[in-house]
Amino acid sequence: MRIAIIGSGPAGFYAAEALLKRSDTPIDVDVFDRLPTPYGLVRGGVAPDHQKIKAVVRVFATTAARPTFRFLGNVQLGRDVSVEELRRHYHQIVYATGNESDRRLGVPGEGIAGCTPAAVFVGWYNGHPDYRNARIDLSVNRVAVVGNGNVAVDVARILMRSRAELERTDIAAHALEVLCNSQVREVFVLGRRGPEQAAFTPSELKELGNMEAADPVVDPGELAGFADADGNMKILRSFASRQPRADAKKLHLRFLLSPTEVVADGAGKVAGLALEKNRLEARPDGALAARGTGQVEVLEVGMVLPAIGFAAERIAGVPFDEKARIIANQDGRVVDPALRTVVPDEYVVGWARSGPQGLIGEHKRASAHVVEHMMVDGAGLEARVLPRREAIDALLRERGVQLVSFDDWKRLDDVEVARGERRGAPRDKIVDVEAMLAVLSQER
Ligand code: NAP
Repeated sequence: MRIAIIGSGPAGFYAAEALLKRSDTPIDVDVFDRLPTPYGLVRGGVAPDHQKIKAVVRVFATTAARPTFRFLGNVQLGRDVSVEELRRHYHQIVYATGNESDRRLGVPGEGIAGCTPAAVFVGWYNGHPDYRNARIDLSVNRVAVVGNGNVAVDVARILMRSRAELERTDIAAHALEVLCNSQVREVFVLGRRGPEQAAFTPSELKELGNMEAADPVVDPGELAGFADADGNMKILRSFASRQPRADAKKLHLRFLLSPTEVVADGAGKVAGLALEKNRLEARPDGALAARGTGQVEVLEVGMVLPAIGFAAERIAGVPFDEKARIIANQDGRVVDPALRTVVPDEYVVGWARSGPQGLIGEHKRASAHVVEHMMVDGAGLEARVLPRREAIDALLRERGVQLVSFDDWKRLDDVEVARGERRGAPRDKIVDVEAMLAVLSQER
């Protein structure tokens, strides 16, 4: 059986692993990525100071070393190859295209200069080619981060890290320079619900208390009335009871506040964020929702970073669920959203299936679950005769696509690691596709 996986992030690699470990039927897997580099979110999303999380790529490299695995980098579905063509060359297709879009606040002023979605800021500091030219102006003193998830914590922490802390990470060189010259002294992380409802995880929250040049600040009054439980609440109470160092930058954690407008100055740049105080209201299903009280304050900040979740990008020829903003599916089987009928031999894993939920490791089981469906549904499919395996490469080359194999990536990897050694970092990323392809052309 021959299977195409679109996207080489964690969910794609976990699906490849589950497929290639099958002993019941021989399977060839071709993993495509629109970038010349593999690993998706691990390379472009995970914070550069979280190298331990990035160590998961060793597992993915083991999968890539299997003789029946191929990486076809620098190939974009919908641009270089169509879904229809993939159907001709593969028995089954797995979409593992993640969430490359961001959710919007939907408040006035959201589009003005200095209001930058987390997807852009994260992509910029991680050297994602799409965002290498993002305009990030850190000549401001105060920044608001909207959202109470782990991404909000990531971006706040990166803004507050010292030069020494950043230098030893694989942060993109352009971002290192801007962050080292940053004027930001205060960051406000804003939750629309209470501290007990925050989505960030205790280990990520705790890390905010161990920064070299910044301290967390929590108003004990904002914790009043919430449980004294373990986890986040315990850590927040410890933050509230400690005295921040006088010379430290301040990372404020505030709750029960919803943005109502991004306020512009005369030049059209961010001057503040209008916030409405919320109270919690129980919904019929028992969940606690934020309800505005009408009480508004304006927080003076020069930059706003909404970190309120992500959404999948629509891909030509792939059914899309407009409401959930994911690939339309039922338990990982792609479905036609109008007819609710299954699209045969097409599957989806990872955030493209579920939305932005779950830590990387949790997707191992989720991808394996979808692979179980594939094996049950696909019994007998291997009898369908396909063009020879390399025919897809020939088709792409005819179109002028410079294919990047896993061995090519290993060469890029070596170059980046060698560049990183100069600053004592795990790597110094090459941040544009042309430069990556040029390195590979030279080295051939
Ligand atoms: P998330 O965990 O879903 O958090 C989103 C946050 O945005 C929530 O606090 C949510 O509040 C808030 N929000 C949503 N709409 C809002 C609005 N209109 N106004 C104000 N606030 C709004 O999403 P994420 O932070 O993007 O993370 C995505 C996934 O990646 C999560 O599973 C996360 O754990 C994971 N991740 C993990 C790490 C790590 O392990 N270190 C790092 C980064 C990300 P409500 O709760 O009120 O909806």
